[in-house]
Amino acid sequence: MSSVEKQLEDLKAEIDGELPSDITVSDVKYEGPELVVYTRHPKEFARNGDLVRKLASKLRKRITVRPDPDVLSDPREAREKVMSVIPEEAGVTDLDFHADTGEVVIEAEKPGMVIGRHGSTLREITKEVGWTPEVVRTPPIESSTVSNVRNFLKQEREERRDILERVGRQIHREEMSKDEWVRITTLGCCREVGRASFILNTPETRILIDCGDKPGAEGEVPYLQVPEALGAGPQNIDAVVLTHAHLDHSALIPLLFKYGYDGPIYCTEPTRDLMGLLTLDYLDVASKEGRTPPYESEMVREAIKHCIPLEYGDVTDIAPDVKLTFHNAGHILGSAVSHFHIGDGLYNVAFSGDIHYEDTRLFNGAVNDFPRVETLVMESTYGGRNDYQTDQEDSEKTLVDVINRTHDQGGKVLIPAFAVGRSQEIMLVLEEAMRKGKIPSMPVHLDGMIWEATAIHTTYPEYLRDDLRDRIFHEDENPFLAEEFNHIDGGEDERQDVTDGGPAIILSTSGMVTGGPIMSWLRHLGTDPDSNLVFVGYQAQGTLGRRIQSGWDEIPVSDRNSSGRTSTLSLKMGVETVDGFSGHADRQGLENFVSTMNPRPEKVLCVHGDERSVQDLSSALYHDYNMRTFAPKNLETFRFK
Ligand SMILES: [Zn+2]
Repeated sequence: MSSVEKQLEDLKAEIDGELPSDITVSDVKYEGPELVVYTRHPKEFARNGDLVRKLASKLRKRITVRPDPDVLSDPREAREKVMSVIPEEAGVTDLDFHADTGEVVIEAEKPGMVIGRHGSTLREITKEVGWTPEVVRTPPIESSTVSNVRNFLKQEREERRDILERVGRQIHREEMSKDEWVRITTLGCCREVGRASFILNTPETRILIDCGDKPGAEGEVPYLQVPEALGAGPQNIDAVVLTHAHLDHSALIPLLFKYGYDGPIYCTEPTRDLMGLLTLDYLDVASKEGRTPPYESEMVREAIKHCIPLEYGDVTDIAPDVKLTFHNAGHILGSAVSHFHIGDGLYNVAFSGDIHYEDTRLFNGAVNDFPRVETLVMESTYGGRNDYQTDQEDSEKTLVDVINRTHDQGGKVLIPAFAVGRSQEIMLVLEEAMRKGKIPSMPVHLDGMIWEATAIHTTYPEYLRDDLRDRIFHEDENPFLAEEFNHIDGGEDERQDVTDGGPAIILSTSGMVTGGPIMSWLRHLGTDPDSNLVFVGYQAQGTLGRRIQSGWDEIPVSDRNSSGRTSTLSLKMGVETVDGFSGHADRQGLENFVSTMNPRPEKVLCVHGDERSVQDLSSALYHDYNMRTFAPKNLETFRFK
């Protein structure tokens, strides 16, 4: 008998011992990090409200109870009963019964009303029908990404369960090594911005954290082939952890599956959906630009199939000697500071991913409170000694001024923006400015994937700032539904109409002017001296955005009629930079994140920044806070224990 089977047998006996005599357990299984308990008495289980919670804390496991397939009631009868338990105001849009696992997936406009106080309505459902309910939100704005991902996962349920069972056995395997050490190897994003990737390594376990591309330098990918990573074979990696969906962290995750990786990806649910959206677009852009994409769209589906979503604050076993906990990072939807607890109290490492320390309109500020942390791997995008950003309040005033000025001279405002994050932040600024009369009401056109990304935001309001979440819950106050917002879905004709029309604001991808519909907008508006191009986000070195920002006015654009031919456009429109809207903490924010961190880390690795930024931040943290700091290069390995 394998050690995992022995373990499960012991757990079953222990659970049997804890349960009242009228409840029996027919099977226990691992599915990913969860322990699934099958019972012939699901209703009795539900009647003992506290039972699952007690078991979970006794066994120190995440526990799901499911009915034994033999005792399932008929779905047709169950459907009526389920609907009679759920209050009508919950707005149920779909009920889906899965006999293989005894689960009923309930899609509702107001999931909270299906869950009830402390889960009381959920328990009521099980008491009535025996099925295990699972609740998801109906997106308030229709999102093809969310529905595609949900349908795909539904279709792949069986294979997904196999994957989860396999991962579950991996996580709970017996530890083989008695050695105790912890190492981190840097595979990218050191003294540069882009291609984020690290290996966290113990004698037992290898975890890959992020796997991104480098904007403006498509050939430069993380050093995945070193022995610490894939060099010793794809099975060598136990788990992949994705801090957030931006392409400089996620673009090459699907590539891992092409290389034969077959394990889990831990991320938040919105990160999973956004990764799907952004990587598919990444393939699309690559092929439009005549580059060979590094993988096929099939690999994106593989990646999604292998995602194990975690919520902020869930402490989760991801290997025999590693527990992972995500915390809000304040950067984009679903972004997570990733905290690793290694061994039984041996060592703790936190990877900041990208962070924003102060609250923004979209998100609460990054969490920096941990039970323990010895080493922090810290982003340094704005770590340079002069990288102080304007307060967002002042930035908003500047943006309002630029818009009013452009409006008065009859031009249009063109804002290149990341589809995810800054676009929604700017949308909230514009919505309020128009509502309060600070700028005239005018159409705000959203091009590229901005509308779709916005729809995904409204699907996961739990991940947004408290007061914004409350507004989205009240449909008539949902700021993203303001009538000024228009989704450009008609392509070039619609862009031409907007160009020929009156005052307008256009938000378009890509955020660093490296491709996408912004190129088309530059063709349309670039020669109009009355219009303004306004940068609101970070422009990485080597990108066209950075060049325009620093004064280039001859821009290479590919003619849309003659296939792929490049001509030069003389930029006549104004160019403005309004900083302060970044999704990244500025220098002060980064220092505050570290200096108020609880507990203070002993060591800090400054990564994810230009050479100067990481050096500046590293030496400032050393001098001002007396920490051991490092500004590693790529391909370095650090031993911590
Ligand atoms: Zn990011």
